[in-house]
Amino acid sequence: MINLDSGVKKQMVAEKIKNFIGLFSWSLILIIMLILLRPLPSWAQTKILENTVYQADNLVVSLFPKLPLQGQAVIVSISCRQASPVPRQLVLLGKKFKIVAVDEGEYKAVCAVPLNAPLGSQQLGIDLADATVVEIPLTILAGNYGEEHLHLPAEMVNPTKVAHLMQIKNDRIRLRQIYGSSKAVIRFSQPFIRPLKSTIITPFGRRRFLNETPKSPHGGIDLRGKTGTPVPAAAGGKVAFSGKLYYSGNAVIIDHGLDVFSLYLHLDTLSVAEGDQVNQGQVIGKLGSTGRVTGPHLHWGIKINGIFVDPLEFINESRLLLQPVGEE
Ligand SMILES: [Zn+2]
Repeated sequence: MINLDSGVKKQMVAEKIKNFIGLFSWSLILIIMLILLRPLPSWAQTKILENTVYQADNLVVSLFPKLPLQGQAVIVSISCRQASPVPRQLVLLGKKFKIVAVDEGEYKAVCAVPLNAPLGSQQLGIDLADATVVEIPLTILAGNYGEEHLHLPAEMVNPTKVAHLMQIKNDRIRLRQIYGSSKAVIRFSQPFIRPLKSTIITPFGRRRFLNETPKSPHGGIDLRGKTGTPVPAAAGGKVAFSGKLYYSGNAVIIDHGLDVFSLYLHLDTLSVAEGDQVNQGQVIGKLGSTGRVTGPHLHWGIKINGIFVDPLEFINESRLLLQPVGEE
């Protein structure tokens, strides 16, 4: 028998404790790493994309574009697990936007950033069915669209005649009804196309000075063309308006669902009636120079929930509304 002195015994115990602590901390680190690196639920994995801005256990949200400019539309894709409360509507800068279910647990929406939206960090709210709200940070960048100065007959810029003022008032009431009538459905099956391939005379978003008076920015694009050129619909939809407006002249407005409208203004003649279902490419009228214009052209615009957005950008974005969530 060898008697170890108490000093050596103590040293051995200390060594054992040290080894145990070492092993324990390594195991702990391993466990933490396993927790951190655990794969996301398989349903969510396929939904995590470059443009994902929010992910929780029950909800994945993607935005296109991730960093919108003033005057741009934003396509929102939402994936929910069954357990998650259903998303009801979106809220951006105080405006409510409709959501449409495109598949089980898959939703789409289109928001619009106004030309005069505040810049920098804002919030996009998703109202859920259980009355909770998911707040997603959204950064808005400046849209620099330039300015233009136009000279027009005074009565066209600041009308004074009673008949004209009455018509403008009636137009406003009628347009408010039209823009309030869209449903939470997608009425088109092909991405939008530019109705005419001709030169853009005036781009979107230009700040306008009419007879040196500042007016609202240009809400669409002006496309060059001769009077009588057939004008096709940019996408399928329902004709919400076909008639005469004081400023816009002969005009057609198509409802594409989800509060998305396309506008065709200053037409010479109209070839569709309100309530008609139109397909992409179908002729809706002929190019002209009616209303407040300096010459024949087609003014083509996209209005989403009362907000004008860049129609050329929307052509690219409209594709994403039609693609399954997770395959954008
Ligand atoms: Zn125009």
